[in-house]
Amino acid sequence: MNVRVQVSMVFHLDKCIGCHTCSLACKNLWTSRPGTEYMWWNNVETKPGTGYPTLYEDQEEYRGGWEVKDGELRLKLNTRAGELLSISYNPHLPALDDYYEPWTYTYGDLIDAPPQEDQPVFKPVSLVTGKEMEIEAGPNWDDDLGGSGIYAAHDPNLSSLSDEQRERLLDVERVVFFYLPRICNHCVNPSCVAACPAGAIYKRGEDGIVLVSQEKCMGWRMCISGCPYKKVYYNWETGKSEKCILCYPRLETGQAPACMHSCVGRIRYLGVLLYDADRIHDTASRPDNELVDAQREMILDPFDAEVIRQARADGVPDQVIESARKSPVFKFVKKWKIALPLHPEFRTLPMLFYVPPLLPVTGSMSDEGLYESSSDFFSSLESARLPIRYMANLFSAGDEEQVTKIYRKLIAGRYYKRAQTVGDVDGGKIAQMLAEAQTTAEELEEIYELTSLAGFDERFVIPPFSREAAIELVQITQARQEGGGMGFVHEPHRGL
Ligand code: SF4
Ligand code: SF4
Repeated sequence: MNVRVQVSMVFHLDKCIGCHTCSLACKNLWTSRPGTEYMWWNNVETKPGTGYPTLYEDQEEYRGGWEVKDGELRLKLNTRAGELLSISYNPHLPALDDYYEPWTYTYGDLIDAPPQEDQPVFKPVSLVTGKEMEIEAGPNWDDDLGGSGIYAAHDPNLSSLSDEQRERLLDVERVVFFYLPRICNHCVNPSCVAACPAGAIYKRGEDGIVLVSQEKCMGWRMCISGCPYKKVYYNWETGKSEKCILCYPRLETGQAPACMHSCVGRIRYLGVLLYDADRIHDTASRPDNELVDAQREMILDPFDAEVIRQARADGVPDQVIESARKSPVFKFVKKWKIALPLHPEFRTLPMLFYVPPLLPVTGSMSDEGLYESSSDFFSSLESARLPIRYMANLFSAGDEEQVTKIYRKLIAGRYYKRAQTVGDVDGGKIAQMLAEAQTTAEELEEIYELTSLAGFDERFVIPPFSREAAIELVQITQARQEGGGMGFVHEPHRGL
């Protein structure tokens, strides 16, 4: 066992209202510079839909992530030798059209317009060419278009659905959608890192945050192809790649990342997970239907005496172990097993997990026009508005049983609380639901507390960051005292 620390996240999709506050908080903080206009380190897409950049989940096109070939785990993109040969020609990169052409407006026209009969108007102007343009796409162009024949119908996750299931999804009166907010998953087996020929992307040892060194990056963009989630972007002004940094300067000062702090639906949770680094290769090499369970097994129990002993031996500070015990992510992912990684079949072992949404799947409209939640969901395929197969394609590499188990628990929780507060559900039925979901009243109370009532300190359990201790593991700090000090890479220049 080799115990490592990972700052990890859970997004509870039932609570996302699609307000995009998270995206704007991130944009204002990190990507409002020239060359970053089209970058959305945090984006919120509508599902079913094609996402951003469009069709990013189609790895036949983009070749991102890993595959097991001839028993070997290897990058889908290329072998190392092939990568070097294709360094100046990479047909698997998304082009600007797959994102969108960023624009602004001629706001000055509103102020400078001469006196005239009509109200002055402003026009859209490309931020790339500076010329007037027609707006044809945007980062959330398909927002709320659950039934769209252009976007929803081309979602790659619909590929294994039957014609009947597809038809039902696009049926006018049954149209359904939900929001999927995405940031970099700060994966444990990051294909962006493995694809970079310059060694510019790295995973921080003490917390697992994945960063791009702006000094080492040569702008070869293999990371962009390598990431199956398309969460690395190319800055066309600086000629370097950039990505979500999980707001590490905020984390190091005890603050939640900006997207999480500002989240209106309070859907986001952050905390530490301990995992066994010796199991990474084996976990990422498992057959599709074993990936979710294997990733859960790789995550270690911070209450286990043997794990604690080994963590200390591997240099994990006691405060971080303590933080891992309080981690909301540990509860959702490992203890209650109701959060899943997005597309585990990409084999990057993402460390952002999602509680799948219940309401769009089970809710429906009654004849009186009231919204109601179906309780006989599992006995009647008719009442499933979003097929379980679709959710399994997103969150469990097609393993429907994984998603079904979670829905059983979420539905049991909903009816358990309804029996308590409204009192119109029979006690025998609740007991049966709890038994079928293999849960208890105590567990459902805990899930309810963290889902519905949790305050800031319970949603974000930020470990103490001892950056100086982490640096000491790789550098002799004494040797740097006379130079630039601990935080600086270059020595300061004085005078002119
Ligand atoms: Fe790398 Fe993509 Fe994983 Fe982020 S989501 S760590 S960019 S492979
Ligand atoms: Fe969803 Fe929160 Fe982002 Fe709003 S701020 S879109 S609720 S994740």
